[in-house]
Amino acid sequence: MPELPEVETVRRGLEPAMTGAVIASAQVNRPDLRWPFPPGMATRLTGQRVLSLRRRSKYILADLSSGETLLIHLGMSGRILISGDPLGQFVHDHPAAEKHDHVVLDMVNGARITFNDPRRFGAMDLMATDNAEAHPLLAKLGPEPLGNKFDEPYLVAALKDKNTPIKSALLDQRIVAGLGNIYVCEALFRAGISPLRRAGRISAKRVAALVPIIRAVLNDAILAGGSSLRDFRQADGELGYFQHSFDVYDREGAPCRRAGCPGNVRRVVQSGRSSFYCATCQR
Ligand SMILES: [Zn+2]
Repeated sequence: MPELPEVETVRRGLEPAMTGAVIASAQVNRPDLRWPFPPGMATRLTGQRVLSLRRRSKYILADLSSGETLLIHLGMSGRILISGDPLGQFVHDHPAAEKHDHVVLDMVNGARITFNDPRRFGAMDLMATDNAEAHPLLAKLGPEPLGNKFDEPYLVAALKDKNTPIKSALLDQRIVAGLGNIYVCEALFRAGISPLRRAGRISAKRVAALVPIIRAVLNDAILAGGSSLRDFRQADGELGYFQHSFDVYDREGAPCRRAGCPGNVRRVVQSGRSSFYCATCQR
């Protein structure tokens, strides 16, 4: 499942093909993904210029010259492919249409953007740009972890009275937007905090230390994604999924990577999701 760094990587990958470019035609091959597409989506997209391509949490937002914003969510299995050769950067010919190509955007510059999603947990919607923050998927989101509003005093205050485990609190999208299972596990490892510890019982000093750690974990992954973008043009044109090595995520039983720690990575299930951590050095 794509998390914030993967979505940011997709956004950056789409920028040269989409930002400032006009949608020549939109092909919508089914009525819905997770939810129905907005009425007349193909017509509302056709002829519009993409003024900017933003990200909020795990959503990509394309602001259009019509005053509407296209929201794209990759869901569990959504993939975006770029083909065509608008700027001499995309070496891929248009591939044969595949079964799960649900939405295809042909840009005036020659790029083709294909949204493929076998499991259809993804979503697309259109809303007025002026009112985009009020969209039901965006309205309750907390601050961006890489934004200015997510700072030490904010996180200390947000977690002060929380009786839930720190792992669950950091996954709560109202507290901080866009953090998912993988990067919460990684951040808690770097911070030396057990995912099982009650959020409100952690000292303010240790909570404050989490802020730069969360930012660093995400930025490291975005950097890794950037490297993958340089490779993808030589590969199959698919954006967003990249190899990244984790310290604890999916390393159950492996030796802890903290220097001098003799522990092993454990897996526990919290709220139905796996937490990976070292019980020796995460307290
Ligand atoms: Zn350890």
